[in-house]
This record gives sequence, structure tokens and C-alpha cells, in this order.
Amino acid sequence: MKVLVLNCGSSSIKFQLIEMENEEVLAKGQTEKIGSQEAIFTYKPKGKEKIVRTQAIVSHDVAIEVVLRALMDPYEGVLKSKTEIDGIGHRLVHGGEEFVDSVLIDEEVKKGVRRCIQFAPLHNPHNLRGVEACEQLLPGVPQVGVFDTAFHHTLPLQAYLYALPIKFYREHKIRRYGFHGTSHAYVARKAAEYVGKPVESLKIITCHLGNGASITAVDRGHSVETSMGFTPLEGLIMGTRCGDIDPALIPHIADLEKLTLAQVDALLNKKSGMLGLTEKTNDFREIEDAAAAGDQQSIWALEAFCHRLKKYIGAYSAVLGGLDILVFTAGIGEHSPLVRAATLKNMEYLGISVDEAKNQANAFDIGTGRVKVLVIPTNEELAIARDTLRILKERSS
Ligand code: ADP
Repeated sequence: MKVLVLNCGSSSIKFQLIEMENEEVLAKGQTEKIGSQEAIFTYKPKGKEKIVRTQAIVSHDVAIEVVLRALMDPYEGVLKSKTEIDGIGHRLVHGGEEFVDSVLIDEEVKKGVRRCIQFAPLHNPHNLRGVEACEQLLPGVPQVGVFDTAFHHTLPLQAYLYALPIKFYREHKIRRYGFHGTSHAYVARKAAEYVGKPVESLKIITCHLGNGASITAVDRGHSVETSMGFTPLEGLIMGTRCGDIDPALIPHIADLEKLTLAQVDALLNKKSGMLGLTEKTNDFREIEDAAAAGDQQSIWALEAFCHRLKKYIGAYSAVLGGLDILVFTAGIGEHSPLVRAATLKNMEYLGISVDEAKNQANAFDIGTGRVKVLVIPTNEELAIARDTLRILKERSS
């Protein structure tokens, strides 16, 4: 059985075709700058060279057509016909309170995803365009939606309520939702498999540290706290997002810089975080190199990033009432010994300590204390493909 995984953003589409028998990636790639005459199409079929082409790709429909053509190309392709695709798994960003699990997409589900556009106006419309393009290009192939928010539907009320007038929750569903759910769920399960215990018996903290970053407390398999909120802006310091700030700064900055609210929003999402602090880059490799060369702003930025993360680990171990496993994942979590070491310094009191040689080597299991400290590569595409298969099997049984 072959599953096509699609992650449709505003101007990019990432894809993977996975053979589910052995979970092998048959082909993967992405289309960037959709809507331009110079879109970039990257395609890597299994066992063959990567191809990068610049071409006009005016819409999401055309982008998906380009993907399908590459998959079926006589030379670079991996399929003989479209009919070999058994299912499509879509990453859908926001499922609000309506979607607590992955679902088979039908007209009702599309209406629900449309209702959730109010929560994710920059994501859900593009996700839906991908779904509709597939309906045209691959008619009859079942499509499954896998929501970023779904894993966090188990957050208890005390974790998701903001202390605003309650009508904002009652009437407008303004609350904390959380994101990166597919990744947090995937690495928490992997961690449980590694220690050979059911996830239902474990207290786990998962740190997803990529360009976007979030941390989740997983109590016996359920997300009970997570750092992103109504939007992905809340929580940890990120590549270009500020994470937690005093909300009173928003009118204050608007006043100081004579900015509109939309401009302040863009400043907090796109010009802050590590980019804002370093005034150079949001790329951790470059920041670490600059810090090593003595650049003071890069040193401060790294210290602030690790401090915020440490604070959340402490808070979440308090929420869980103990901790069995701490997981690091995504670009920074998987590849930055410096971030892991700086964050976990002086946490022996919690049972957390690290073998520095293993940490430097990005080994899988780097802890030496009571708490297992694991570095686990995330694989959101595989998690989406597995969920797609599960939902398709449930449908046919
Ligand atoms: P996203 O998927 O959110 O765009 P990733 O999970 O790919 O992000 O993570 C990107 C981040 O990981 C970048 O800041 C990048 O610099 C960082 N990263 C990747 N490799 C390394 C490394 N070897 N050392 C430090 N940071 C790294």
C-alpha cells in the first residue's frame, strides 16, 4: 500500500510517497515559491540523484500536478500509474475543538476545517487547497487529515484556559490549543518503545526544537501541557518568534514605533526570537559558530533560549509530578549538543544528568541519571502516513 503525504503551506508543498509494507520512502521533495514564474521543484526518488528545477508553478493545483508527473515519469518516476496511490495523508494545522483525531476527509470534514480558518488563517486555507487539488487530480483516492492540534485535545481545562473574560472562550473558543502534536506523539511513543514500557505507564517531556519550537508534557500517553497556545507564537524562544512576552508590550511597542497591530504581529512572529536577538540569523549553526567566535549577542541569544527551555522543563516536571523520560527532537534538538548541555546543566536534583561524550556524539541515549534523556529523530511524514493507513483500515473493517 502506498501513501502520498502532503504538507501544503501558503507558497510551498512538501511531499513524500511511502510504501507502507516496509515504511520505505519511495520519493520525496518539495515545491517552493508557488505562484511565481520561478518556483523551485526539488525531487529525490529512491536510489537516484536529487533533481532541482526552476519552473513556473502558478497554483497549488499545478504544484501537485508537477509532483504527480515526476512520480510517474518514465525515467525519474517511481510509479507506473496514479492508481498505485492508495491514500493521501494531509498535514492539517488547526482542528480547533472539533477534531480530536485524524479523519477521513469528506464534505463535512472540509466544512469543519473551513470553520477552523478563524484560528489559523495563514495555514488552513492552503491545507484545504491541497485537499481540493487532490480531489481533481486523484479522484476517488481517499484522503485523510492529520491535525497538528489533535494530540493536545487531552489538555485539561486548567492548562488550556487563558485568564481572560470567560466569554472569549465560550463565544470565540479562544484558548490554548498547542501545535507540533504529530511530532510530540511520535517521539513519545518511540521513547516508550525504547525503554520497553507501555507509554501508559510513563511521564515524558518532549522538546521539539526546530525553527518553530515547543515542549509538551505527556502523562501516560496524553498531552497535559504544551507551550504553544492559541497560535504557535506562545512559549519557547524560536527562530523568528518571541515566545512568551508580557502582553502589555504589544500596545507599548505599537506606540513606540508607530506600528499597526498587524505590523506588531509580524514583528513578533518574523523579526523576533533568535533573529531579533542576534540581529543576524535564525540559523542555530551560524549562531553557535558566531558565539564560539565571541559574538556577544549570539551568546546572549543562546543563553536566553536555553534558560527558557530549562524553565519549562522544570515547570512541566512539576505538572507531571515526576519525570521518566526527557526527549530532544527536530533540527536543534537532534543536532545541538551545546543547547542540550546548557539547558540541562544543574538539573541533577531532578534526576537529569548527561554523559558529555554521548551528548557530543548526538547519541540516542545520553542520560546518566534516573531520568532517561533521549535524542530521537522526529518523522512527521511517517507519522502522518501511519495515521492515514490506520484510518483507511478502520474504514474498510
Ligand atoms: P523546521 O522544520 O521547523 O523548519 P528544523 O527541525 O529543520 O526546522 O530545524 C531547523 C533548525 O535546526 C535550524 O535553526 C538549524 O540551524 C538547526 N540545526 C540543524 N542542524 C544543526 C546542527 N548541526 N547544529 C545546530 N543546529 C542545527
